[in-house]
Amino acid sequence: MARDGAPPKQVVLVGGSGFVGSNLAYALAQSGDFTPIVLDTNDEKLALRFGGRGKCAFRRCDVLTDGAVLEAAIEEADIVINLVSHVLPKTFLDNPLGVIDVTLHGSMNVINAAVRHKKRLMHFSTSEVYGKTGGSEAPFSEDHSDCTLGPIDNHRWIYSTSKQLLDRIIHAHGLAGDLEYAIVRPFNFVGPLMDWLDEGDGAEDAEVPRVFASFMSALLHERAMQLVDGGKSRRCFTFIDDATSALIHILRDPEGARNQIFNIGNPGNETTIAELAELMRGIYAQEAGTGRPIEIKDVPAEQFYGSGYEDCDRRMPDIGKITALGWQPQVDLQETFERSMRFCVDNASALGVAVSREAV
Ligand code: UDP
Repeated sequence: MARDGAPPKQVVLVGGSGFVGSNLAYALAQSGDFTPIVLDTNDEKLALRFGGRGKCAFRRCDVLTDGAVLEAAIEEADIVINLVSHVLPKTFLDNPLGVIDVTLHGSMNVINAAVRHKKRLMHFSTSEVYGKTGGSEAPFSEDHSDCTLGPIDNHRWIYSTSKQLLDRIIHAHGLAGDLEYAIVRPFNFVGPLMDWLDEGDGAEDAEVPRVFASFMSALLHERAMQLVDGGKSRRCFTFIDDATSALIHILRDPEGARNQIFNIGNPGNETTIAELAELMRGIYAQEAGTGRPIEIKDVPAEQFYGSGYEDCDRRMPDIGKITALGWQPQVDLQETFERSMRFCVDNASALGVAVSREAV
């Protein structure tokens, strides 16, 4: 029974067995107000988060090919959450057409079904939609900031562009009056089950996870942590439990959140990537008790990612809109990485390549 005595609302999380989806499904199940049903191509991370298979409703579904499964789940649901995405910068560079297929076309299948069945939609956009700062120090604002992207040759921006188009399509449905939605823009969420840890075999063609898992694998395998272009870029890292709490605030407030875009991030947790490398190295030495110094070395972006990469120099969220719904981030930078790293150290074998890379 929900807090207000009503039956829990049924929430279908499409693409919900990745890092954010698994943690969100767990938080929804704990809340008492919502019953999660996860649709995805596998349930590995979901099973890890819930402590076993079958503890959270799961239906196998590829959004590009399993239209009937998707349609039936959305028809039954009270709320639809769209998490369908390719989220790794390295994938944007290696497989830009795959990013379009999944992120754009896959998401359109979800959005169109939500419109057809008149279901409330929470859609995952990205802080990457804002692109580069263009030299401004102003935080990114949902309703005022420009989206500043590099040239087409720098195809890193294909993900940002796909997500921006989806935001505009959803917004247009809102204007047409046929969709109730909330769009959320995550600012570097970190925590248990993020990406994967590699086996340390140093394979040349290895995929590259985002910075947290990349540094964590380097520490576990005692090899150099690689700072792309010197690690000058800045990010605000947000602990996943803070993030899921913000998402639940939005779901509990349909009036306050109606047809709005929300940044979700922790402005107090800003760091350069170079400072992050030092922080993680220090925490690791403490947590794992190793005294051996791990090297931190610079690597040119072209060598690390290949051609077509361009970085977001800084991502600072304006969080006025989400804090107006009563949410505040609680977990500072040190604790964010201590908790995330402790989970990796304790679960290294379960988090290795055994966890499918499709599940990130
Ligand atoms: N980065 C790095 N070393 C790595 C992985 C990433 O220096 O092993 C940098 C990357 O160039 C970017 C920042 O870390 O400046 C964050 O990258 P991530 O892949 O986590 O995602 P982003 O925040 O860019 O979406």
